[in-house]
Amino acid sequence: MAAARPADPAGPLPAVVLGAGYAGLSLAQEVHRRSRGRIPVVLIDRNPVHVLRTQLYEVGELASTGDTTDRWAVPLAGVLEGTSVEFRQGTVRSIDLAGSSLALDSGTVRYRALAICLGSVAAYYGVPGAAELTHQVYRLSGAKKLAAAIREIERASATLPGERRARIVVVGGGSTGTELAAEIATTDWRAIADPRARPPDVYLLTGALPFLSGFAAPIVERARRVLARAGVTIVSGLNVTRVDPGRVALEDGSVLACDAAVWCAGLEAPPQVRELPVPHGKGGRIAAAPTLEVPGHPGVFAVGDVVELKDPNTGAFVPATAQAALAEARTAARNLVARWTDRPLVPFEYRERGVVVALGLGQAAGAVRAVPIWGSPAALLKRLVQRDYAHAVEHGEPPSLI
Ligand SMILES: Cc1cc2nc3c(=O)[nH]c(=O)nc-3n(C[C@H](O)[C@H](O)[C@H](O)COP(=O)(O)OP(=O)(O)OC[C@H]3O[C@@H](n4cnc5c(N)ncnc54)[C@H](O)[C@@H]3O)c2cc1C
Repeated sequence: MAAARPADPAGPLPAVVLGAGYAGLSLAQEVHRRSRGRIPVVLIDRNPVHVLRTQLYEVGELASTGDTTDRWAVPLAGVLEGTSVEFRQGTVRSIDLAGSSLALDSGTVRYRALAICLGSVAAYYGVPGAAELTHQVYRLSGAKKLAAAIREIERASATLPGERRARIVVVGGGSTGTELAAEIATTDWRAIADPRARPPDVYLLTGALPFLSGFAAPIVERARRVLARAGVTIVSGLNVTRVDPGRVALEDGSVLACDAAVWCAGLEAPPQVRELPVPHGKGGRIAAAPTLEVPGHPGVFAVGDVVELKDPNTGAFVPATAQAALAEARTAARNLVARWTDRPLVPFEYRERGVVVALGLGQAAGAVRAVPIWGSPAALLKRLVQRDYAHAVEHGEPPSLI
């Protein structure tokens, strides 16, 4: 491995990578590998850790570990040791594409090439009360807060009158909402909160979209049956119109009382990305060229959840997943090095390996290369992919299964 060559403030301008998530971390490492450490890379993130975001639905696990969240967060310092990638902790306030510079909370950074990998934030679609009164699992801090809140709710459930149980409402019937609802319903809260705790009633509101929209019918049916067995009530066809303390209102005028509500109903680009004067797609994502370059800005790339890309083979949008972010990062790194060295760029081609949704208690459902897979083999495969990725990150290697 090449010796570390941190960017010299007085030396040549570096390639700057914004965000050390799935896209940013692997892109920075891939630029190091491809350029054999010759391109100085500065990787910027507000956190000094890489968060294993795909595991943040594991609130039962999080509730039992308290503040020990090392399993979900890998320190970046160790991961980047011995590479030409210099990590700088800071929050990106704004990006000046015309001036090739960034405003951080701690100062200004200039760049020669840029990769925008800032991920996504919850989209609340203007629903009153949603942003202020619901939980989310899109960030580790949010998932920890939710885990602690449910632990307290479950503690209190032991003393509820009669047979009453606590009620948790999950808004959004995509894979994140489904995994979360299953996790909450199947966690043994008696072991975590109080031996007399009563299992919560879990409602999964899918809104106008059907449950697990986009998945093949047999997978949806399997998942529906597993969730029903776990005690999750699925409500479809009604959007949430308002959230008040302890209540979620639906568009038919009905109101669901609840002890906690979680918003898993959608994502959009972060404000620093939405405000950029570049072509935008749905949710303010950057509508990048097939090479992942931002139109009109050679040497600037958009990668991961921030980008909107159409797969030229299927005409469908490339999904906002970790799997797609990692694949995009490989192409974007190659193209960034090509721009740096005046060579031609290549278009991104997406091949989905598979998608598996965890359903609690060692069950899962999904497809690998379009072949349906479910039950414990699917759950085992998901676990293997998660472990392979975590191991690869910790050792600074590319993952082999995702
Ligand atoms: C619960 C859950 C389960 C999921 N399960 C799967 C799955 O099974 N398979 C799958 O493929 N995908 C899954 N996903 C989706 C996947 O996590 C995302 O698509 C992936 O994280 C996108 O990678 P990214 O690099 O674009 O963004 P992220 O991984 O979110 O990284 C963005 C980075 O930017 C940093 N950042 C953001 N704003 C700023 C700022 N202003 N200043 C500095 N730093 C900033 C953040 O700290 C973060 O490190 C899941 C998501 C969730 C929430």
